[in-house]
Amino acid sequence: MVNEERLVKLFIQLVEKDSVSGREENVSDFLKQYFNQCGLQVEEDNAGEILQGTSGNLLVRIAGTADKPPLLFAAHMDTVQPGKGIKAVVGEDRIIRSQGDTILGSDDKSAIAAILEAVAIIQERQLPHPPLEFLFTVSEEQGLMGAKLFDFGRLQSKIAYVLDDSNDPGTIVIESPCQNEIEYIVLGRAAHAGMHPEEGINAIHLAAMALAKMPCGRIDEETTCNFGIIEGGLARNIVAPECHIRGEARSRSREKLDSITNSLKDTFITEIEKLGGKAEVKIDFLYPEIALQPEEEVVQRALRAACKLGLKPTLAATGGGSDASVINGAGIRCANLGVGMRNVHTTDEYISIDDLVMDVRLILAIIEESA
Ligand SMILES: [Zn+2]
Repeated sequence: MVNEERLVKLFIQLVEKDSVSGREENVSDFLKQYFNQCGLQVEEDNAGEILQGTSGNLLVRIAGTADKPPLLFAAHMDTVQPGKGIKAVVGEDRIIRSQGDTILGSDDKSAIAAILEAVAIIQERQLPHPPLEFLFTVSEEQGLMGAKLFDFGRLQSKIAYVLDDSNDPGTIVIESPCQNEIEYIVLGRAAHAGMHPEEGINAIHLAAMALAKMPCGRIDEETTCNFGIIEGGLARNIVAPECHIRGEARSRSREKLDSITNSLKDTFITEIEKLGGKAEVKIDFLYPEIALQPEEEVVQRALRAACKLGLKPTLAATGGGSDASVINGAGIRCANLGVGMRNVHTTDEYISIDDLVMDVRLILAIIEESA
């Protein structure tokens, strides 16, 4: 049923349109044109203006042929760097790669190509389907910025699938962590390091003393924390007046995230103040957790669809966020599906044509299960 030649062509057209985060207009324009040719309206929101980017999030709706609950599919339009001037190379092994100097962009254009091909097939074959909503986000790679700005009140779907996991088609991500970004600031006092060290308060030293009292790494099987960047000081011979540390905490449990974050913050402030400095801790909640139950409909429907296609479905947990995190946070039950993209965010990124075809079949099978 899938027109492989058309699908591969679509995929190559998409990856060869530059769309690094914030500069998605080429892909966005392509999608508007594509859907308009299908007789469908594309609604663009103002996320582009807010992010000072070149495109907003796009929403496309297709009226249902049956009076069934609506269904949402989502994918992101942006890519990481190096993502300019991508040329796709189709190997004799039916694998599509870049020329080696850029990423490929199958993250997440494999998903977009699969959605476009699925829409074409639905229209050509006049397949029965529930009302469908398709969301194409911007700046996903910048911390899910586009999805966070989207007004989910505009959607009718209560069940959704994001196509943005790098495992095999048939993988259904039902658990992922929530995350806090945590910035720790120490304010000390500058002084000449050789002549008047006792007049200074060394922020770097204080930070080190405090960090030594704090946990780092794995806290338990579903909770981690990290210090990723440390910066401070002005010169070798000046008692460092400031030190900044940027870190994070993640957990699949919101309670545990709150608990580890509070404990990190309290320990840091207490230790720094004990040593005579001033401390500040800034916490930014990045995205909520995904915690789907295997027996709930969003998971069961994807399982039935995958089994129908002869796949061996796997329920998975991941350690990172995706647009699915934001969609779940908006009260829509949303699983992230494996699409078969490999080595993403590297110049060795690739995807097989067979997986691309399977992605289309999976979307169609989920729609069939929903009709
Ligand atoms: Zn992605």
